[in-house]
Amino acid sequence: MTARMIDGRAIAATLRAELTDRVAAAPVRPCLAIVVPTPDEGAAWYVRQLSRTAEKLGIECRVVGPPVGADELVARLAELSADDTVHGVLCQTPLPAGITPVQAGGAIDVAKDVDGANPRSAGLLAAGAVAYPPATAAAVLHLLRAEGVELAGRDAVVVGRSTVVGKPAATLLLAEQATVTVCHSRTRELAEHTRRADVLVAAVGRAGLLGAEHVAPGAVVIDVGTNPTADGGLVGDVRTGEVAEVAAAITPVPGGVGPVTTAILLSHVVHAAGA
Ligand code: NAP
Repeated sequence: MTARMIDGRAIAATLRAELTDRVAAAPVRPCLAIVVPTPDEGAAWYVRQLSRTAEKLGIECRVVGPPVGADELVARLAELSADDTVHGVLCQTPLPAGITPVQAGGAIDVAKDVDGANPRSAGLLAAGAVAYPPATAAAVLHLLRAEGVELAGRDAVVVGRSTVVGKPAATLLLAEQATVTVCHSRTRELAEHTRRADVLVAAVGRAGLLGAEHVAPGAVVIDVGTNPTADGGLVGDVRTGEVAEVAAAITPVPGGVGPVTTAILLSHVVHAAGA
């Protein structure tokens, strides 16, 4: 079998086209505020990409720097949450010393928490009542829906249990009536779990961790991992070439989950602005 490559860029382009119409119909110009609390090359690159995409869609993107300490960060996130001209608030990682993700996320108003960083948003997600799940987890589900993948009653295995990706992706899959297994660094016999998956989501951050031996024939594989290579490229958690010989469909890295995540995040901002 040669797997179908799931075109994240095309799926994101469709989302962005819908967003352009929604932005035009929005009662105000949607505005995303991004706080960058520490200098970091990866974060700076991501923020540049996000700002560029936002501006092209007519969404204002306010990047708030320079680097701040823990107390000032909480105050700044609270201030932006209270600002009527701001509709979405994002706190970029890495965080400064002395503050946890729970403390930083907790300072963002749930109504403007467009990347599901507030622990209250995580609670609402578990209760099936969240407005904005973490964008990457939502992107995993969007890709599966866009590909017409049936989830009800199917076995879904998520490798990785972070608060930002693995856990919320598992919760969203469960909400779609999948039977969900979550694997992590202490899981024994990883391949025995992953080989049961109709839908396999890799969200680990280890280049090429999952190979053909981890994948059932005909599975749909969503590779969330983004691992920098020595030559400045990016690879996923899945050995795409060999897995493509077994799976029915697979997302490439780059060009899979990443662009869809950006589009979903911006769709949350537009929604928060009332459109
Ligand atoms: P993270 O917080 O480091 O979590 C990694 C998870 O993988 C943990 O739950 C860890 O288990 C598990 N793990 C580590 N080694 C493992 C192993 N050998 N076998 C099974 N599980 C293992 O990372 P994250 O923030 O979730 O991000 C995961 C990946 O997604 C990264 O490559 C990141 O860059 C990428 N990412 C991509 C996007 C996008 O839009 N494309 C967005 C966000 C993140 P323990 O819990 O036991 O430690």
